[in-house]
Amino acid sequence: MDTKLDLMVMTVHPDDAELGAGGTIAKYVASGKKVGIIDLTKGELGTRGTEVTRAQEAKAAAKILGVAIRENLGLRDGFFVNEEASQRIIIQSIRKYKPEIVITNALDDRHPDHGRASKLVNDSIFLAGLRRIETYDSGELQEAFRPRLQLQLIQDKYIKPDVILDITEFWDIKEQSILAYKTQFNSSSTEDGPQTYISDPSFMESTRGRAHEFGRNIQVKYAEAFTSRKLLGVKDLFDLI
Ligand SMILES: [Zn+2]
Repeated sequence: MDTKLDLMVMTVHPDDAELGAGGTIAKYVASGKKVGIIDLTKGELGTRGTEVTRAQEAKAAAKILGVAIRENLGLRDGFFVNEEASQRIIIQSIRKYKPEIVITNALDDRHPDHGRASKLVNDSIFLAGLRRIETYDSGELQEAFRPRLQLQLIQDKYIKPDVILDITEFWDIKEQSILAYKTQFNSSSTEDGPQTYISDPSFMESTRGRAHEFGRNIQVKYAEAFTSRKLLGVKDLFDLI
């Protein structure tokens, strides 16, 4: 089976991918690219819902976005560390799926998991390219592989983007994928736990507002934006808008 992905969104909590890059995922799925989501943790420390409801919601969201695969690497929410054991798990996943582009969490954010995960994924991507680090998939030695581009999401904290992508046509799919996390967002019920700042309906308004704001910068209705640790090049200046 060919497991190669064009685009991988590798983020720490189920729902980070939808909130930060749901439109981008839907856009590339629609254009025929193979896209996958890798969640590093099950989000088991979330205030509302449970590990089980979150897994069901992540599955439903993946279906809405149309991704080829969604996997969970089972690191510990809140307590994972950037060290060899975690890095090896990520290296295995990168070498298995050989994505051209990886999108990960914001380098610096309100939630400390985001910055730590970003650093962990960035370090592991570098290490995945070193052939003397041996990893195995179903008993077979994996080839060294390094994606050609890695980008970071912009999450709660406003960070000036390095690239902005038009997702206007895909806003509705993004919104549906976020709303698939029924216990997390847009819910006034206290059945799934106390209200949090993301469960309040105003959170979706601010997510939409952010997409509008990024969009306005490039004269489109909705956009998602990313940062890059390396300078970005383009083959054709006329592709820039
Ligand atoms: Zn998160």
